[in-house]
Amino acid sequence: MKTKKYVYFFGDKNNTEGSAKMSSLLGGKGANLAEMATLNIPVPPGFTISTEVCIYYMKHGKYPPNCKKQIKENLKKIEALMGQSYGSTKNPLLVSVRSGAKKSMPGMMETVLNVGLTSSTIQGLINQTKNKRFSYDSYRRLIMMYSDVVMEKNNLSEVNIRSTLESVLHNYKKQTGHKDDASLNEKDLINLCNKFQKIIHEKLNSKFPNNHMQQLESSIEAVFKSWNGKRAVEYRKIEKIPNSWGTAVNVQAMVFGNMGHDSGTGVAFTRNPSTGDNYFFGEWLPNAQGEDVVAGIRTPHPLNNHIKKSSLSLESCFPLIYKKLNIIQNKLEKHYNDMQDIEFTIQKNNLWLLQTRVGKRNGRAAIKIALDLYQNKKITQKILFKRITSQHINEILLPSIDKQEEQKALMIARGLPAGPGAATGQIVFNADKAEKLYNEGKKVILVREETSPEDVHGMYASEAILTSRGGMTSHAALVARGWGKCCIVGSNDIQINYKKKSFKTAENIFYENDWITLNGSIGFVYAGSLKLVQRKISSNIEYNNLMSLCKKNNPMKVRANADQDTDALVAKNLGANGIGLCRTEHMFFNPERIKNVRKMIVSIDENMRNKYIKKLLPYQKNDFYKLFKTMSPYPVTVRLLDPPLHEFLPHEKKQIDELSSELKTNKKLIVEKINKLKELNPMLGHRGCRLGITFPEITKMQVSAIFEAAIKLKKEKIKCVPEIMVPLVGSLNEFLNQKNIINTVAQEVFKKYNLKIKYLVGTMIELPRACFIADKIAKHADFISFGTNDLTQTTFGFSRDDIGSFLPDYLSKSIIDKDPFSTLDKDGVGELIKIGVKKAKKANKNIKIGVCGEHGGDPNSIMLFDKLNFDYVSCSPYRMPIASLTIAKINS
Ligand code: PEP
Ligand code: MG
Repeated sequence: MKTKKYVYFFGDKNNTEGSAKMSSLLGGKGANLAEMATLNIPVPPGFTISTEVCIYYMKHGKYPPNCKKQIKENLKKIEALMGQSYGSTKNPLLVSVRSGAKKSMPGMMETVLNVGLTSSTIQGLINQTKNKRFSYDSYRRLIMMYSDVVMEKNNLSEVNIRSTLESVLHNYKKQTGHKDDASLNEKDLINLCNKFQKIIHEKLNSKFPNNHMQQLESSIEAVFKSWNGKRAVEYRKIEKIPNSWGTAVNVQAMVFGNMGHDSGTGVAFTRNPSTGDNYFFGEWLPNAQGEDVVAGIRTPHPLNNHIKKSSLSLESCFPLIYKKLNIIQNKLEKHYNDMQDIEFTIQKNNLWLLQTRVGKRNGRAAIKIALDLYQNKKITQKILFKRITSQHINEILLPSIDKQEEQKALMIARGLPAGPGAATGQIVFNADKAEKLYNEGKKVILVREETSPEDVHGMYASEAILTSRGGMTSHAALVARGWGKCCIVGSNDIQINYKKKSFKTAENIFYENDWITLNGSIGFVYAGSLKLVQRKISSNIEYNNLMSLCKKNNPMKVRANADQDTDALVAKNLGANGIGLCRTEHMFFNPERIKNVRKMIVSIDENMRNKYIKKLLPYQKNDFYKLFKTMSPYPVTVRLLDPPLHEFLPHEKKQIDELSSELKTNKKLIVEKINKLKELNPMLGHRGCRLGITFPEITKMQVSAIFEAAIKLKKEKIKCVPEIMVPLVGSLNEFLNQKNIINTVAQEVFKKYNLKIKYLVGTMIELPRACFIADKIAKHADFISFGTNDLTQTTFGFSRDDIGSFLPDYLSKSIIDKDPFSTLDKDGVGELIKIGVKKAKKANKNIKIGVCGEHGGDPNSIMLFDKLNFDYVSCSPYRMPIASLTIAKINS
């Protein structure tokens, strides 16, 4: 029987068994080392133990049969190529043992260097290098790493051996008057190695192994175990890397960049990863090991003289090696057709490449590099779109927290990431106060249990919004997203006390005016004010080029959810093909109008109601006029009033007093009316088209305003096509009732001005019943738009405002795998949509179909809408670029 192959060798062109294509089995690092070896690029020889071994090890706690034998055979191959022998006391081979998963997990798993150094092999290293100091420094590094990575992890005690040894080193330097590690001489290092071994024995109750094979096997096992280490597991959760992948382990001949002044090490990128500019970019350090560059103990020098001539650059110090490295980096980028991140070491004037991988880059660089490669015909349009992520787009559109500051910051709470981007500001708990402080030039963050339309002015004035309740489609989430504002909702970690003007977390208490910083892209709240990075996109040619390429690949159009002309302008500048949802209720909250709205609601009879409704007409007409004009020539979908009327009514005593005195009505009567309008389940109550049916005057007023505005624009020769949308329809008669009012008012207005305009009448589909009767509705509707927020709410029976209280448990207990208000639930809501679309199209093949719930801006949900051939998706303006990119990814 053929034995299974677990170990793959890489060395030179003729001795390499893997390739870049084998990253599932060999991990990214191993696969790329093999690829480099095949390309004749000098890599220290080594072998990769496959991910299958890790999976086996996780299950059985031991190596699979034959694996150890294969490791030994491959070790021999390294020895042959290096002319050294593992465990030799004369000419010892030392190896590094590193992790390497299919997808890079930087710093999340373990590495052990200088493996194979023992009290006997060290003599060989000294003979070989004629450098006792270097040899004992290598030994010291091995003891520190090995005791931490291998021994401590196998030990049940709570000793932190790394920090214990670090402090011994620190104290030793202090006592002996050494400023840094580099000034320690060989005697110091011998002393330290002995001290370290003694402490390890004492603290961990086992000896540092003096056997080279034991060192190797235990190091490999430690890397496998680190796949399930806390850091790695957390990272995989965030990056959505499956636990089942496992890591490969690379065992590779050590080369040393710290062998003297003819040695060095560095990290480089084939292009600048911050700007995307096309020049070789990187840093190096003479006489150093790789970790010295990364750890920031010494300040590295530039690689070349591209930006500024430097006598310390690699180009100046080692011109021939630099030339060789430059040829290699060009070769690598050409080979992979993407920007590479490479690590190299120079050992006694010999150049070795230790790693190449696709380089991480920020949003700006990602777009620039992908476009450049596409324009130079190196990659296809499909690959161009694939290489740009939603995160890249967010980074360039929205502010983010400085990465280094964020790593060091104190995270105080988590919540749902409702509005991406970042913001920093002083805590306020009240919308009026937020506005006041904003007017004084202060930056504030509004912290509320939840927000209501009454808070809108304070929300607008705030840098960001943080709520302790509510879900991804709660009021705070919708409003913040519409403005591109950072927002975290449903943060159960904070307990607000409005009276004391404070909130409590598990460990701290924060008061009004304290500074906090929010990362709305991941839902993290930090203490203090962190530095933000803001990029300007208006002048970014690459971004604009990318967006026009996306648009060419958008058979499904992208519209915006926008309620005001200012939002519409933002949307148009970001490339909107129209407005897919104007929530007209947001127009009612303007301070001048809210009073008339309230008077209209508490009116005791129709006459009185009409009086106040009439007062609202000119405002609404002007709103629509500005909105249509801004969005011209694109269509605008206006939704008739939707929320329960109670939402508009005053709750505070002062406002109630004001209302009763202005209406000259007894306060008691007003309070009675307010109480009467209260509902137990307002979301399922007197809202949506139910309002227009019981108060047809409201529909009449809104529709008159729409047509009057459209006629005015027609006279000005400005194109506009209003699409009037009836909300929350569950039966055909509801729709027909409202449609009838719309058409009657249209005729009246057209007659009044002796002019006609084109308009559409449609409905939202946001109730399961509406999906089942979509054919009946479609016969009478010009368009339907799926309101997936309410459809999700009514399909699951989850309240969109209260889901925050149980969602974290549902997610952690795997009851559901995603928040259905963020990513469409394909099995339930998706199936209903499919039924609705099929029925609607069968009854009316010309019907226009769109979506305007929050899912319209979510990449995972967009795939379904695209599959069902929707005409458009509509989402908040700042999510449109991601929607457009997603559609382009699917359709290119
Ligand atoms: C919806 O329900 O999906 C929708 C867009 O309407 P709203 O969020 O305003 O209820
Ligand atoms: Mg709705």
